[in-house]
Amino acid sequence: MRPADRKRGRRVPGGVSGHVPGRIPVLLPYPFAGPFDYRVPAGLDPRPGDLVLVPLNRREEVGVVWDAPAGDPVPERKLKPVAAVLETPPMQPAMRRFIDWVAAYTLAPPGEVMAMALRINALRPDAPPTGWRRAETMLETRLTEARRRVLAALGEAEPRSTAALARAAGVGAGVIRGMADAGLLAPAALPLPGFAAPDPDQPGPALSAEQRNASAALREAVAARGFSVTVLDGVTGSGKTEVYLEAVAECLRQGRQALVLLPEIALSSQWLERFERRFAVAPAVWHSDLTSRTRRLTWRAVAAGQAPVVVGARSALFLPFPDPGLIVVDEEHETAFKQEDGVVYHARDMAVVRARLCEAPAVLVSATPSLETVANVEAGRYRRLTLPHRHGGARLPEIAAIDLREHPPERGKFLAPPLLAALEDTFARGEQAMLFLNRRGYAPLTLCRACGHRMQCPNCTAWLVEHRARRQLACHHCGHVEPIPPTCPACGAEHSLTPVGPGVERITEEAAERFPAARRLVMASDTVPGPQAAAQAAHAIEAREVDLIIGTQIVAKGWHFPHLTLVGVVDADLGLAGGDLRAAERTVQLLHQVAGRAGRAEAPGRVLLQTFSPEHPVMRALVSGSLDTFMAEEAEMRRPGHWPPFGRLAALIVSADHAEDADRAAHDLGRAAPSAEGVTVLGPAPAPLAILRGRHRRRLLLKTRRDIAVQPLLRRWLDAVAVPRGVRVDVDVDPVSFL
Ligand code: ADP
Ligand code: ZN
Repeated sequence: MRPADRKRGRRVPGGVSGHVPGRIPVLLPYPFAGPFDYRVPAGLDPRPGDLVLVPLNRREEVGVVWDAPAGDPVPERKLKPVAAVLETPPMQPAMRRFIDWVAAYTLAPPGEVMAMALRINALRPDAPPTGWRRAETMLETRLTEARRRVLAALGEAEPRSTAALARAAGVGAGVIRGMADAGLLAPAALPLPGFAAPDPDQPGPALSAEQRNASAALREAVAARGFSVTVLDGVTGSGKTEVYLEAVAECLRQGRQALVLLPEIALSSQWLERFERRFAVAPAVWHSDLTSRTRRLTWRAVAAGQAPVVVGARSALFLPFPDPGLIVVDEEHETAFKQEDGVVYHARDMAVVRARLCEAPAVLVSATPSLETVANVEAGRYRRLTLPHRHGGARLPEIAAIDLREHPPERGKFLAPPLLAALEDTFARGEQAMLFLNRRGYAPLTLCRACGHRMQCPNCTAWLVEHRARRQLACHHCGHVEPIPPTCPACGAEHSLTPVGPGVERITEEAAERFPAARRLVMASDTVPGPQAAAQAAHAIEAREVDLIIGTQIVAKGWHFPHLTLVGVVDADLGLAGGDLRAAERTVQLLHQVAGRAGRAEAPGRVLLQTFSPEHPVMRALVSGSLDTFMAEEAEMRRPGHWPPFGRLAALIVSADHAEDADRAAHDLGRAAPSAEGVTVLGPAPAPLAILRGRHRRRLLLKTRRDIAVQPLLRRWLDAVAVPRGVRVDVDVDPVSFL
C-alpha cells in the first residue's frame, strides 16, 4: 500500500494550489481481482464514490473511485492518469460497502458485482420523454376532421406521447407532427410511470384485527428507521400483501424510498393493479425486459430519489437508492431469487445485507417460509408475524390425495377417475378449475418402440422434450431444437417414436377430449411469454372467460382468482424424484402455493393430489395441513449432518470442453481440498447434468459447520490449485441447485 501523499511536497505546476498529485484506486466494471491505481492529474479532485473516466487498454472506461488504495505494484511513473471526473451523483458509501460485501461473500470479482450496480448506459443524459399538449395560443386555422379528433383526444389533461395520441385519435403520426409544425401542439415533458408520488394516506382496505396487529408491527419497524428483519408468515389469502403495503405507506410518509422484490415480476400484473388501487399511481418497475430507455430513466430517477416505490426482480437490489427505508422480499422461499449466472447470489439473503448496510428494515413474506428463514427466527435473529386465517372468512381448501395405484387413469391417459369426476362437478357448478403439472411441452421423453433409442440433446445430458404444437423436440437446458424426425434416427423404423409421460400440452389434449365444452387456457412460459400476456390471461380468468387453467409453476404464483375452486395436481411426486437436499421442502412449498389458489373467495376450494405414494411425509403434511410439523421434522433430519440451515455449503463446478480436462482439474481440486474438524468435502463427482452446452461438468461440495465460514477456506483452496486454460471453476456459495 502506498499512501497517496508519497510525493509529499511536490508542487503541482500550474495546478490548483495545495493539490498534491497521488494515486487513487478505481474499480472497473470487469472481472478483475480488484481496483487498479490511477494517477490523479493536476486540477482533478476525485473522491471515493466518484464516477471517473480512465484509460484501459487504449480505451476510456467508466469506473468508480474505490476506498482502500489498491496497492498494485505499478510504479508511480507508469501510472495512467484519470481522464475526467463525471458530473453524475457519486456512488453512495452504503452501495460501495454492499458491493464489497457481495463480492467477498460470493467470491465474485468486485468489478463484476459493481457492473450490476453501475448501468453505464444510464449515465448518458438524455432528455426526458416528450409528448404533446395543446398550444397555449392556438392559431385559428381551419381544422381538418383528423386534427379535430387529435385535439379532442388530448383534452386539457396530461400531455401524451405521439404514439398514444395517434392511437387515441385514430390518425397517423404524420398528422401529429403536422399539427406541431402548425403550432397547434406544443411539446411537453411526459410524466414517467412510477415516478409520481403515491399518496400513503389514501385509505386502504379496512383491515381485520389480525391484519391490523401485523401491519402496526411493520409500520413501527419502518418508523424506527433502523435495521431489523421481520418475517410475515401468513396462510395463502390471508392478506399479506395488503399488510405489507401498509409498511410501504409508512415508508412513504417517512419520505424514504421502498423496494419490493418479487420472484417473477413478469407475472405480477395483479400485484401492480392492486398497488394502483391502494395508492392511485403505479410504482416504478425494474426487470430485465425493460427497454434501455426506460431502464436509463428508471435508474436515474432512483438515484435522484424520485422513484418512491420500486418493484422489481432480484437485480433491483443493485439500484442506487440514496436512502431506502424498506426492503420487502415477497415469496421469500422462492428459488427464483437465486441468481445462477454471472455473480451467483441469493437476492433474499443479499436484501437482508443491503438493509443492514443502509439501516433499513427488511420484511420477508411467505406462506411457506424457507427452513433458513425459520432457523433465523428460532435463533432470534428475525422476528416473526403470523396471519393464521384467510381474509374475509374464506376457508383454506380441503386437500386430498388420489392414490394412482388404486385409481389408475385409463391406458395412455394421465387424469385419474376421481379427478375427472371433480372436474365435471366443478364445471357443472359454473366454477373454474386448474390442473398443475410442472412440465412444459407435450412429453418429456421420446422413445423408439422398435429399438429403445431415446431422443437426447446433442449438447447436454438431457432428454429432448416434445413440443407437439411446434412439431419440435427441444432441450430445456441449452435451447437446442430440432424437428420431430419421421423415422427413428438409430434404427430407421417408421412410426416407432412414442411420447413417454405428460407435459402440459398433453394434459391439455386429454382435457379437451374429456371436456370439449370447457374453455381452456394454458399457462406456461412459452404460452405466456411476458407481462402483457400474463395480464391478459389473468383478466380472462377474472372475467370468467376460462373454465380450465392448465399450467406449470407459473400458476403457483400469488394469483387471486375468486372463481377458482378446484386444483388438480397431475403429478405430485414429480419434485421428489432426483432428490436434492431441499426436494421435500420445495415440493411442499410449491404444492402448498398451488393449492392456495383454490377457494380464495366465498365458494370453498378443493385440491386433489395425484400420487403413487400418499403415505410420503410430503403428501401427509399437505393433506393434514400440518406444514409446521413437517418443517420441524425436516429440520431435525438436517441438523445432525450439519446440512443447511445448520451448516454451510459451497459448490465448485468444474467445466471443460473435454471430459479428461474436467476430470483432471476436478481431481486436482479434490486432492487440495481443505480438511479440518467440522469441514467435509464431497466429490469430485460428475454433475447430474454431466454435459451442459457441450461442456463436461464435475462437482465438489464443501460442507462446514455453521460456525465455520466457507469463504476463507474456498479462497485458500482455489489459490492452491492451478487451473489450466479452458477449464472453468464456478463457485456457488449456498447452492440451491445441485444440477
Ligand atoms: P396473500 O398475499 O396472503 O395470499 P392477499 O394479500 O393476496 O393474500 O389477499 C387475498 C385477497 O383478499 C386479495 O384479493 C386482497 O385484496 C383481499 N384482502 C385481503 N385483506 C383484505 C381486507 N382487509 N379488506 C379487503 N380485502 C382484503
Ligand atoms: Zn441441451
